[in-house]
Amino acid sequence: IISARGVQKSFGRVDVLKGIDLDLFEGQVMCLLGPSGSGKSTFLRCVNHLESVSGGVLTVHGQLVGYRERRGRLYESSEAEICRDRSDIGMVFQHFNLFPHMTVLENLTIGPVTVRGKSRKAAAVRAVELLDQVGLGDKLKAYPRQLSGGQQQRVAIARALAMEPRLMLFDEPTSALDPELVGDVLAVMKNLASEGMTMLVVTHEMGFAREVADVVVFMDGGVVVESGPPGEVLDNPRNERTRAFLSAVL
Ligand code: ATP
Ligand code: MG
Repeated sequence: IISARGVQKSFGRVDVLKGIDLDLFEGQVMCLLGPSGSGKSTFLRCVNHLESVSGGVLTVHGQLVGYRERRGRLYESSEAEICRDRSDIGMVFQHFNLFPHMTVLENLTIGPVTVRGKSRKAAAVRAVELLDQVGLGDKLKAYPRQLSGGQQQRVAIARALAMEPRLMLFDEPTSALDPELVGDVLAVMKNLASEGMTMLVVTHEMGFAREVADVVVFMDGGVVVESGPPGEVLDNPRNERTRAFLSAVL
């Protein structure tokens, strides 16, 4: 689903990604760990084409991000094509960015109706199902400000799922939450993983990574330092930097 080969990203003269290599396969959960500033969010943003890659090859769903192939030649994607590609990817950020002036139900139906061309009725039916799934079936008419952080984040996940994405990106989805609210959000993500969703998750929740991830990737200084199954990377890290990072966060 995602293939990165030597992916680089610079902001002016600052090289943030210095050659990322990784593969995420269908149905896999990959947890991305690493110190602040190591480029985790930047990589996620490249996958979604919120940033353009400065070097290397990044493909998502078999297509070079930001380009379209026609008759054997590459063309830069149009805005419409970028939007279409993005609509296959759900993204959940640290700060729940729900539309504050819309109810929970409206937050979930606006995308499917305006971008996917779903009927209002079909979108509402699906929204109710998804809200039940995240344990918020009784909050359809609430506004985001009336919900706790954990509830808002579960709505944000449901909203991303309403677009029927093929890939979900999570950028520290629980790090802005009060500790007692983290568990509910992780439970929703765990459930999603068990249903076979392909997920790329930036998180410092080691318990989640250990239990749910198929692959754990440790990034530092814009490169992948170490990757493998959680049992290896978390419990038996080979690299000194991985070891130092883990002993600081655990
Ligand atoms: P954190 O754990 O703090 O979220 P991160 O691993 O997600 O860190 P990034 O947000 O990807 O790190 O940032 C990596 C580096 O890129 C940082 O040094 C940051 O200052 C820089 N950076 C990110 N976005 C921009 C931008 N738009 N312009 C300039 N520099 C940027
Ligand atoms: Mg970040």
